Amino acid sequence: METGLSPELLLKAAAVHGTPLYAYDQHSIESQYAKLQTAFSAFQPSIFYACKALSNINILRILNRLGAGIDCVSINEVRLAQMAGVSSQQIIFTPNSVAMDEYHEAVALGVNINIDNLSILQEFGSHYGSRYPVLVRINPHILAGGNLKISTGHEDSKFGISVTQADKILQIVEETGVVVKGLHIHTGSEIKDIDVYIKGLELILSTAQQFDGLEIIDLGGGFKVPYVPGEQGTDLHTLGERMADVFEQHKQSTGNSYRIWFEPGKFLVSECGYLLVKANVIKKGPSRMFVGVDSGFNHLIRPMFYDAYHHMDNLSHPDAPPTVYNVVGNICETDTFAWDRQLPEVQPGDILSFRNAGAYGFEMSSRFNSRARPAEVLISHGEITLIRKRETFEDILAGQLY
Ligand SMILES: *Cc1c(COP(=O)(O)O)cnc(C)c1O
Repeated sequence: METGLSPELLLKAAAVHGTPLYAYDQHSIESQYAKLQTAFSAFQPSIFYACKALSNINILRILNRLGAGIDCVSINEVRLAQMAGVSSQQIIFTPNSVAMDEYHEAVALGVNINIDNLSILQEFGSHYGSRYPVLVRINPHILAGGNLKISTGHEDSKFGISVTQADKILQIVEETGVVVKGLHIHTGSEIKDIDVYIKGLELILSTAQQFDGLEIIDLGGGFKVPYVPGEQGTDLHTLGERMADVFEQHKQSTGNSYRIWFEPGKFLVSECGYLLVKANVIKKGPSRMFVGVDSGFNHLIRPMFYDAYHHMDNLSHPDAPPTVYNVVGNICETDTFAWDRQLPEVQPGDILSFRNAGAYGFEMSSRFNSRARPAEVLISHGEITLIRKRETFEDILAGQLY
C-alpha cells in the first residue's frame, strides 16, 4: 500500500485547492486496468467500468481511452458516459426498479440494456419484439460480499430475475420475440472468495444452455481491493486461470463460447483516491482524544454506512509521536471516521488523508448540514488538475424558490 501519490504532492494539492479535497491518481487507475487485462488475458473480456463508483467525466475519459466501456445504473450516468465520448455500444445500462420510460430513453440512446425483472422484460418485449436485443440479469442466489448492504445476489436480494425463473424468461421470449443476447450476474461487492465467482460462473453457463443464440456472459464486478494494511484483495491471477478452465471445459462439452464482460467499479478506482481533510480541533475528553476534521459523512459515508476502514495518514507531521484518536467529522450527527486510530500526533491545521477514497467517496456525498461538496483534482505525472470546483453557497441555493 506504500505506492501511490507522495505526501508532498498531496500537501501541494491541499495548499492550492483547499480542503476537504478529493485527489485522484491517474497512474493508479491505469495500473489497476492493466492488472485486469493481464489476469484475464486468456479469454480477453471486455471491461465496462461501473461508473457509480466515481463518475467524474474526466475519470470516464481516462478509462475509455484505456479501452474500457462504461456500466451505468441510471440514464444520467449514460448521458455522462456519452459526454465523455464513450460510444453507445460501449455502454451498458443496468438499472434496477426503474420505470419503462428510462428503458425507452436507453433504446433511443442506443446502449446495451440489461433487464432485471420479468414484468419489464414482458413490457419491453411486447413493445420492441425482436428489434432490440437485451441482456437479462439473473439472481444466482449466492450470498457474497463484504457486507449484507453490498450483497446483491442472494435469494432475498431485490436484484435480478431468480435463476429458478429461467423458464418464465423463456416463456416471454417465446411470446414476445424479444431476443436475449446475454446473461448477467453481479453477486456483490468486495468478494474475495474465488469459489463464489466460479460457482456463479458455472451456474450462469448452465443457465445459458437453455437459451438459443446467446452471445454474451456478463459477470459483473465486485473484485475486492485491500483497505486495511496487510489485507489481501481478490487473487485475480488465480481467478483468471480458473475461469479460463471453466470456459474451456464448457466449450468442449457444449461447443458454446461467449464474449465475456466484466463491470468492475471499486477495483479500478478505490486506490486512486485520497480524501484530504484538515484537523480543526483536537479535543481531550476524560477518556479519549478526538480529532475533529473539516469533513464528515456528508463527504465520505463509507465508515459510517458500511463500517468501512479507511487508512489515514498525517501528511503534515508524519514523524510525530504515535497517539490514539477518535477521528470525527464536523456534522451534527455522530460521524466517526475512525475509532481508536493511532496517528502521528495531530496539531490543529494538520492535513490528514484518507486512503482508498476513490470509490463510493465523492459519489455518495451529500449537502447534509448545508455544507458544500468538496472539490476534485486529478493528479498525473506530478501535475495537479482541478476536475470539479468546490461547491459554494450559491450551489446550495440553486433551484430553491424563495
Ligand atoms: C455496483 C455495480 C458494479 C460494481 O461493483 P464493484 O463492487 O464496485 O466492483 C458492477 N455491476 C453492477 C450492475 C453494479 O450495480
